[in-house]
Amino acid sequence: MTERGVSTVQKKNKGGIFIISAPSGAGKSTLCSHLMESTENVLPSVSYTTRPPRQGEINDVHYTFISEKKFREMAAKGAFVEWAQVHGNLYGTSGRRLKSLVRAGADVLLDIDVQGAAQIRKSLDSGVYIFIMPPSLSVLRSRLEKRMSNTKEQLADIERRLARARDEMKHYKQYDYVIVNDALKSAQQQFKAIITAERLRSGRLDSHWIRNTLFA
Ligand code: ADP
Ligand code: 5GP
Repeated sequence: MTERGVSTVQKKNKGGIFIISAPSGAGKSTLCSHLMESTENVLPSVSYTTRPPRQGEINDVHYTFISEKKFREMAAKGAFVEWAQVHGNLYGTSGRRLKSLVRAGADVLLDIDVQGAAQIRKSLDSGVYIFIMPPSLSVLRSRLEKRMSNTKEQLADIERRLARARDEMKHYKQYDYVIVNDALKSAQQQFKAIITAERLRSGRLDSHWIRNTLFA
């Protein structure tokens, strides 16, 4: 076993793609960051966006920040496996980046909205779909409020995000798993349990490794 409990057999596995969607404020970033810190070999897919960086966000780490002109040029050239407009900005997943992470054997987290997840479902035959729900709309509101300073503009933005949350949550049945992020620790454990179970699927074992070692 290695330090973080990943066996050598699991290390022979191919990488997987995990598509994570949630209404804004449900705790997706919190859960994804914790998973990546606590689990070996889980990496983010860094999306391209036209949204300006928020304080503390680093280019090519949180997002690759580009102009709308450049984004549309890339989209026209087929650079994105999916892209969508969310809250007035454009976001897209680079096919090249995704392929190179999966080839390297990483489990890749795609933090994307429900429109993007629907596009990926059509273009990829593999992928594990996870939807994160808040325990209630009132908890969602208080998490959004906590994250923002309450200027008039931001209060209107919270109302827009809540209205959108109701629409997004209607899509939960299109996902393989649903995590209700109520008690944080329990949601973190559930997220990790999904990744662990998916890593153990027989289809993810490297058949060359099995042939060359166990059946040699
Ligand atoms: P998202 O990425 O889905 O928009 P965040 O991860 O930024 O959401 O979480 C929104 C806010 O809720 C943050 O302030 C975060 O610390 C808080 N939060 C996340 N999960 C929980 C939880 N289980 N209990 C309480 N607060 C939480
Ligand atoms: P934020 O601007 O708050 O980081 O993200 C807003 C929303 O855009 C979130 O729901 C997030 O999942 C989604 N998003 C981020 N990157 C992508 C992407 O590459 N494609 C799609 N479709 N949505 C994305």
